[in-house]
This record gives sequence, structure tokens and C-alpha cells, in this order.
Amino acid sequence: MPSLLTNLKHLSNANGVSGDESAVRSIVIGLIKDHVDDLRVDTLGNVLAVKRAQGPAARRARRVRVMLDAHLDEVGFMIFGANSDGSLKFRAVGGIDDRILPGKAVLVGPGRIPGVIGVKPIHLLDGDLSVLKIEDLAIDIGAASESEANSAVTIGQTATFATEFRAWNGAASGKALDDRAGCAVLIEILRGPRLPVDLLAAFTVQEEVGLRGAQVAAHAFDPDAAVAIDATPANDLPPAIEQDVSPNTRLGHGPAIYVMTRHDLSDPRLVKHFMTTGDALKLPYQIRQPGGGGTNAGGIIPARSGVPTVSVSVPARYLHSPASLIYLKDARSTAALVRESVARLTYPILKRG
Ligand SMILES: [Zn+2]
Repeated sequence: MPSLLTNLKHLSNANGVSGDESAVRSIVIGLIKDHVDDLRVDTLGNVLAVKRAQGPAARRARRVRVMLDAHLDEVGFMIFGANSDGSLKFRAVGGIDDRILPGKAVLVGPGRIPGVIGVKPIHLLDGDLSVLKIEDLAIDIGAASESEANSAVTIGQTATFATEFRAWNGAASGKALDDRAGCAVLIEILRGPRLPVDLLAAFTVQEEVGLRGAQVAAHAFDPDAAVAIDATPANDLPPAIEQDVSPNTRLGHGPAIYVMTRHDLSDPRLVKHFMTTGDALKLPYQIRQPGGGGTNAGGIIPARSGVPTVSVSVPARYLHSPASLIYLKDARSTAALVRESVARLTYPILKRG
């Protein structure tokens, strides 16, 4: 049985820019298909799987139905055309800081053609040279002419950073750990034993461009409650950690439970339930300070007649860059906290009044 580490490696190395998630989707399906009762791919490309509660069917009917979400997609690039010198015009898909791009190795299109992000010669740049913008950059795949580039790559194909996953001393680095770490956590939960609740697993598309897959998945599942499993920034190195940057999390301190982001509020009953479960079972967790960012919770909460939702994330350094870094024990303890908390979820916990 492949470990969380092995699964994370394959998931991180696969390319799945928003809207182009098929390679990641195939890996997920292969890893969960023998461990769920129902599995389908919806019209947008979300993987929707159901793992029913333990026990006889009559009793199952009264079980809480919990949606567990992790997004398949990653930030990356889209090819916009070729320049006369054979280099490729491109733009970002999702939030990427232009300043980190020059000199980075990338893989382009379904054929994973190697390329390097190059800078236009300095005499062709205008404006403030201290700030390089993505428009000043091009992907060099070694093509000698526009026609050679066009025969290798088509407009609309995507590209990702070419980072190989590595793991050492309990740490792991790779591209797209946002949110392949969450995918690996959700896979781990699905491959585990049945729980006293119905698990409605959604591996969703297009989170990085507007939480679109999760909105559709939540509508389809119409769950009683939901957990968005993601990766969240850890600015836990000097000087940020002394400057009290918020929101912030720390590697090695367990999953980050959200209370509020720029776009959503976690359900306070679920926040309390997750904390109570963590305390009772001595599972590590940390509370992510309010503010900034967002997860698929923002797409799930308003679905149907409303879904009580909490976000729980693996803390990660350098998100949306060529290589982010996590501690594997944080991914494992995220799986443990989510599994044990949803296993103890009952209707009285979700009852109003
Ligand atoms: Zn994410």
C-alpha cells in the first residue's frame, strides 16, 4: 500500500494547472477507486467519491453526510503564442509573483517539453528595470523560429514549474503542494477504515481561479457539513515571525484550523468541535489567525441552503512558488485531526438554537 509520502511525490510531480487537471485526476482515481463505494467525474472534471458510513443501511440513513474537499489544480502558466525568435509568450494562471520567474525551469504542454523562463534583452525593456513583469518574460523551449515553436506548442496549453519532489529528514519540497498536500491527506482518509459518517470526497478543479469546482461539487453533494483541506502559508522564518505577520502558521505545529479568511468564516461549531477532538485525543493543531487568503470553503458555504464548513490546512512555506516546503508530520496530523473530528460529528453538534 503506497504511503502518504509516495502518493504526495506522484501528485506533486504531475502537472495540473487550473482547467487542465486530467493528469492529477488520473492519479487520484487510481489511488482511491478500490476504497470508495461510488466514484464519478462530473462535467467540470471534479472527482466525486462516496465512502459510506459503517454499519447496516437502516442506521446509515441517520448518519451525518460530510463533504471533504481538496483541490486538484495548481497555479501555473498558459501559452499565449510564439515570438519570432521561437520563444513563447505566456501569462500566469492563478496568483504568481512575477519577481520569482526569471531563470526558472518549466515544463510545457501535455508532452512536458522542457523550457526556461527567460528575460528579454535589457535594451528591449522599457520602464522601471527594477521591476520585471511577466510581459517582459518569455519561455524558451530551444525552438529556433516561430514556426518551430508553433509546431511544438499550441496556444492555450499550460506550463508548470519543473520542480522534482524531494523528501528528507521529515521535510518535503515540491511544486503544487498547494493543494496536492490536501489531496494526499484526503486520499489517506479514504484509504482508511469506514467511519460512522458518510464521507463525500470532492477532489475539485479550478480553485486557484475562483473556487469553481467546489461550488459545483457542493451543489451535487448537498452535504450536512464540509471540510476544505488545503495548504496555508507559513511565514514562520525571521523576520516575519518576529513581526507578527497575520495570518500565519508554523511548520511542525500540526494542521491549521481557520476561523476567518478574506472570503469566508468557518462555522464556529465546527471550529470548536475540531479543537475539542484535537484536545481529547492529544492531536496537534494550531489556529490560523483571522484574515487574508481563502479556500474552497468560500465556494461551499453558500451552496444550496448553506453548508456549515471549516477549513483545515497543512502549513507550507513558499506557496505559489517553484518549490514549497512542508513537514510530513503536519500532513499526517492533518489527516488524523480531520478523520477523528468528522468521525465524531453528529446532528446535535450542527443543530441551531
Ligand atoms: Zn490551495
